[in-house]
Amino acid sequence: PLRRADAVRTGDVKHMKWWGWGVEGVGFHHEDKPDFAPFVLKAVGLDLLAGKRTERPDFSELKVPASRAPETFVKLLSGIVGDGNAVVDDMSRVVHTYGKSLRDLVRIRAGEFARTPDVVVYPADEAEVQMVVEAAVEADAVIIPFGGGSNIAGSLEPHADESRVVVSLDLGRLSRVLEIDAESGLARIQAGALGPDLEAQLNRDGWTMGHFPDSFTHSSLGGWVATRSSGMQSDKYGDIADIVKGLRVVRAGGVLVIRAVPSASTGPSVREMVVGSEGRLGVITEVTVQVHRCPERRDIYAYFFKNLDHGLAAMQEIAESDVSPSVTRISDAHETGFSLATSKESKGIQKMAQAGLMAYLKKRGWNLDEMCLSFIGFEGGEAHAKRQKSLADRIVRKHHGIGVGKGPGALYDQKKFDTPYIRDFLLDRGAAGDVSETAGPWSKLRGIHAAVYDAAGRAYEKIGRKGWTMSHMSHSYHSGACLYFTFAFVFGDDPLGEYDTVKRAIQQAFVDAGGTISHHHGVGLEHAPWLEEDISTQGVAVMSGLFGAADPGGNFNPRKIV
Ligand code: FAD
Repeated sequence: PLRRADAVRTGDVKHMKWWGWGVEGVGFHHEDKPDFAPFVLKAVGLDLLAGKRTERPDFSELKVPASRAPETFVKLLSGIVGDGNAVVDDMSRVVHTYGKSLRDLVRIRAGEFARTPDVVVYPADEAEVQMVVEAAVEADAVIIPFGGGSNIAGSLEPHADESRVVVSLDLGRLSRVLEIDAESGLARIQAGALGPDLEAQLNRDGWTMGHFPDSFTHSSLGGWVATRSSGMQSDKYGDIADIVKGLRVVRAGGVLVIRAVPSASTGPSVREMVVGSEGRLGVITEVTVQVHRCPERRDIYAYFFKNLDHGLAAMQEIAESDVSPSVTRISDAHETGFSLATSKESKGIQKMAQAGLMAYLKKRGWNLDEMCLSFIGFEGGEAHAKRQKSLADRIVRKHHGIGVGKGPGALYDQKKFDTPYIRDFLLDRGAAGDVSETAGPWSKLRGIHAAVYDAAGRAYEKIGRKGWTMSHMSHSYHSGACLYFTFAFVFGDDPLGEYDTVKRAIQQAFVDAGGTISHHHGVGLEHAPWLEEDISTQGVAVMSGLFGAADPGGNFNPRKIV
């Protein structure tokens, strides 16, 4: 095993900026996208050209509650992880308080901290994690594992009335690929590795894990496992629940070890219990994942469908057919409008080609306001990718779709990790933009889509704001798919009250219409109120029993999920 000398230094652990997504100096701009400002004005009534900005506080103005960790306890932790690796400064504690949900961002910008962690520790290896856990449980402290801090389900914040000392255990120094079993296509990786570091280490030897959530740049392997994450190419590589084969989880008293085997009938599966446990069953220190040879070709093609019905029918038929795409995604008409509005101004031949395409579609009787943009991706060897594309094209044609080449797909692929910056851009201008996602069987997807639009519409009316809803389908399965909704409105006098009204209406619509409360963001505090409706009273009882028995003192991230 790697020892402290091999580990990354605490100073090199990367964190996102305290008030928003990503790194300082990077943000969303609309000046080069001429259709964006008119689009936003029409959608939510926000006039970007008026240039009005809401002030973000300076960090020094925030009133950060003092650490409640006794000096002796911090000294004890420092003795384990080394000087400088157990810290209590305000910035470290603030950065480790929340994830990046809209609720988190609104509160942090307002300097609202009901409770922060009292001390942040950066262990260098599994042995140090074990010693920190033993010391914390012995002192009856709370331990909250921290990966990238990107979750949007309220999975990190200490409970407001937590009277015990709260330790944020940052896995950032455990970021190495430890071993690749090339014969089996398995890689042992430390849980704190962030997406880009992990892929760069695998790519060096020609491997990829194939897990690319939109938050890839700032989320960690341990966090993906702990929230049951899903990446864009899940149609080929699977969700994290499929990718994880082995685990090491530090608990009080020892390490829970799941050896990497392709499948097992030792049920109920403890591996499955850890996947999605949000820190409640212990600290994941190492994950063995399945890895694939980097594909020769990786192409994403764009298609237009006349409307969502046609597009969904094509996606369903592809999922049921022999075609094996890496990505299937279709935006509804609203999201298609948004995507077109966020495109940079096209010029010359490109502009003429676009105008020509739209004229052609109109001539074919398409209502351009109902048109839906779709992406279908293929990965693998040259011949495989070609064959898959021709099979998919046949299905697309059957549903009257039109291929528009690789250009838009390549652009989407490059830009997808920048999209999260739009939320900060909107917040800077007093507007909310957030997401809720679900999964449901094919037979219920259209019903869920309609129910959410209806519920969100009523919620906007209730709060008296002009709201915007848009959606796409992604992550296809044999029996159904994920539906992902984005909603936006300009805040009135009670930002979080208004947000709650809309968010709750959408979550309720999910369960009422036959979907789950979350396909890939987890439960945390945010989605917990609907868990019983999702998995039944008995289901919640089993889950509570598991957490109660595994962690009788309630030391590991208490009160998340249930
Ligand atoms: P954190 O936020 O640090 O922690 C999340 C939870 O996991 C907490 O409960 C924490 O205690 C626990 N945890 C973290 N590490 C460990 C560990 N080593 N051991 C035990 N418990 C641990 N999610 C997707 O799945 N797909 C997407 O496409 C996607 N896109 C997103 C886009 C944006 C803009 C944002 C803000 C979020 C997105 N997310 C997405 C959600 C988020 O990125 C995921 O939930 C991610 O898996 C969280 O990983 P993290 O390392 O940031 O975890």
